[in-house]
Amino acid sequence: MESETKQCEKCSKSFVIETDDFVFYEKMDLPLPTMCPSCRWKYLLAFWVNGRFRITKSALSGKTIITVLPESVPFPIYERSEFVSDAWDPLTYGKDYDTSRSFLEQLVELQSKVPHPHQVGAKNVNCDWTDDMWESKDAYLTRSGGWSEFISYGYRVIGCKNSIDLTFCWNLELSYDCFYCFKSYNLKYSFNSRDCMDSFFLYDCRNCQNCFMSWNLRNQKYCILNQPYSKEDYFKKIEEYNLASRSSVEALKKEMWKHIQQDAVHRQNYNVQAVQSSGNFLNNDKNCYQGYFLEESENNRYCFRGFGYKECIDSAGCYNSEKCALCTLDQLNGYGNTFCLYTTSCRYSSYLDNCEEVEYCFGCVGLHKNKYCILNKQYTEEEYKKNIEEIKSDMKNRGEWGKFFPLSSAYCGYNLSLAQMMFPLSKEEALKFGAKWEESVESHYENIISGDDLPDTIDKVDDDIVKQRILCPETKLSYNITKEELAFYREHNIPLPQRHFDWRTLDRFKPFSLMVMPQKGNCYSCKKEIEHYYSPELGFQKIACLECYQREVA
Ligand SMILES: [Zn+2]
Ligand SMILES: [Zn+2]
Repeated sequence: MESETKQCEKCSKSFVIETDDFVFYEKMDLPLPTMCPSCRWKYLLAFWVNGRFRITKSALSGKTIITVLPESVPFPIYERSEFVSDAWDPLTYGKDYDTSRSFLEQLVELQSKVPHPHQVGAKNVNCDWTDDMWESKDAYLTRSGGWSEFISYGYRVIGCKNSIDLTFCWNLELSYDCFYCFKSYNLKYSFNSRDCMDSFFLYDCRNCQNCFMSWNLRNQKYCILNQPYSKEDYFKKIEEYNLASRSSVEALKKEMWKHIQQDAVHRQNYNVQAVQSSGNFLNNDKNCYQGYFLEESENNRYCFRGFGYKECIDSAGCYNSEKCALCTLDQLNGYGNTFCLYTTSCRYSSYLDNCEEVEYCFGCVGLHKNKYCILNKQYTEEEYKKNIEEIKSDMKNRGEWGKFFPLSSAYCGYNLSLAQMMFPLSKEEALKFGAKWEESVESHYENIISGDDLPDTIDKVDDDIVKQRILCPETKLSYNITKEELAFYREHNIPLPQRHFDWRTLDRFKPFSLMVMPQKGNCYSCKKEIEHYYSPELGFQKIACLECYQREVA
């Protein structure tokens, strides 16, 4: 098959279906996509909840629970341990398939009635105010992480300890306001750095100690603006920067961004050991085409964020999935699944929502350890096979086969999903895309103060601040400062944050949302034509091919 150019049904841009894509879709009995790759990712990621924390009660036991699912969800919410228990039977929601109506419509009806778990994650201690956390302790208002301790306001934090405001960080300790940093200690206001200690405002530094506002450094000590100083002069100079003041930190952040734009050399991609692959943020991957944020994966096409994908296409947030297509959050050894959402250890199934350890099921919600079910109704193997053929053929006739769950059935609006983080849209754009939008419902507080009125330095803050509700001027959402957090800021001489933690995470994340589409350009040094991933909006001046980067930086 020759490659074919099509027009995206969502954004109208043209996109190419490559020869190798045809092979995949044909093998999986799927029609060709009608959306361009980035609209396909937006669509799938719109189902990945990144909602606001709220307190509610389990619809089964009445137990108090904290969930990121918005109030607008149509289904009952059960505490997770109750959801996976046998205190209820999802098969009681079973329905016969009505041949005269759309299958997806019937699936969405079922989805709106069957209970869903309040939270994703397991094996945590004191992590009520988290979502998608695993084997962690004392995490607060943190999402998507694991193996961490004493973490607040994190997003995607793995193996981190005693830190606040980390986004996409691995193995950091005593750190604050860092983004995409690895294995570092006492690091602040830094981006894309590894193996660093006691440093501030670093970009692309490795194995540095006591460095300040520096970029592309390797194995350095006592550097400011990439210039080495004596130990005494270094500390004297740092003192002058007045890091205790928010206004000076804000000014320094702006200054650092200018250096990142104008002076730092940027590697054409962030990939580490990506063999015959294209995409960005690949780590130990082989033969992945247009993959982003993938680890330990091979032979995939258009997969977005995840670990251990094998022979998958058009999927997002999967973990050890094999031969799957159009799945979001298909976790732990999923095999041969299509159109699945929040599933764990399922095989040979399609159109599942929140099922665990099921095989050969089609259009089911909330099942555990079942086999041969359709719309939560039990069949024999023979009946199942016969019915599936009929339903698939009906779906093909109606042009439904190949479509994921409708966007209207996402648990939350686009703005509270991961799609907003990776591919931010305005309300109007999201609605035009066909997604929902979640209006913020904020409680009214007496005596609330504006974030703008917080003192400039931490030494002007008294203990009573922990009783105070603070209104974020950007989001109009309120937040508070916890006792532990205040102690951390005092110890590290950090001014109080003026903005809501979700705004801070999104703000930190912004550069990544501009690094997820291939761009044509030239290496700034050798002028060779390269494919890189830095959107022109970032304003990076020195984008280098791998060879030039290696020569000049690494
Ligand atoms: Zn598109
Ligand atoms: Zn070059």
